[in-house]
Amino acid sequence: MSSVLRIALQKSGRLSEDSYQLFKECGIRFDYGTGKLKSVSSNFPAEFLFLRDDDIPGYVEDGVADLGIVGENVAVEMGRQVQTIHKLGFSKCRLSIAVPRATDWTGIQHLEGRNIATSYPNLLGNYLKEQGVRAEIHEISGSVEIAPSIGLAEAVCDIVSSGSTLLSNGLKEVETIFRSEAILIARPELDADKQTLIDKLLFRIKSVQAAKN
Ligand code: ATP
Ligand code: ZN
Repeated sequence: MSSVLRIALQKSGRLSEDSYQLFKECGIRFDYGTGKLKSVSSNFPAEFLFLRDDDIPGYVEDGVADLGIVGENVAVEMGRQVQTIHKLGFSKCRLSIAVPRATDWTGIQHLEGRNIATSYPNLLGNYLKEQGVRAEIHEISGSVEIAPSIGLAEAVCDIVSSGSTLLSNGLKEVETIFRSEAILIARPELDADKQTLIDKLLFRIKSVQAAKN
């Protein structure tokens, strides 16, 4: 029986367009954007699943998908047993600590005993531990940047690209704790047929990337 690679991509969001574009540039055709959850390539042994990005590391760990594209921030935060096989160079962003603009920031020790709102409790918790700072982490799933203005927290730790969202919420970025880009992840154990397909795909991805540099 011939193998088919199952590849999980973000259905719609900041990873989607570049992920679809990457496969297009690799010459791998499939339909997307039709509202369907699944699409089979017409010219490569691959089947694509369209999911929320947060679900992708779990599906790859469980073997529902063989490969997936996610932000490194999400892959590391979730701590799933997956292997990073390639960095893709798009959806670049950073995870940073920000505080109200008027704060007299003297360094990370400023956060000792304070409340910090974030959607990344593990990444933040590890960073604070490394820095020897004890603080209260409030996990919230969205709109983290409004937490200080509603009195929920004294600082936030959130994804930043240009910084304009922070600015418009009266915050300033004071410390970057993690730099991220889109990565290709794979399940830990793959049979030889699937590994051969992945090698083929990786060769094409690297050629596309080399042509751009
Ligand atoms: P979903 O609905 O799939 O759960 P989401 O709202 O959680 O989507 P997005 O905002 O689409 O996620 O972000 C997906 C990933 O893109 C993030 O985990 C991060 O790696 C990256 N990212 C987030 N914000 C930016 C940004 N402003 N610029 C570039 N990349 C970003
Ligand atoms: Zn998400």
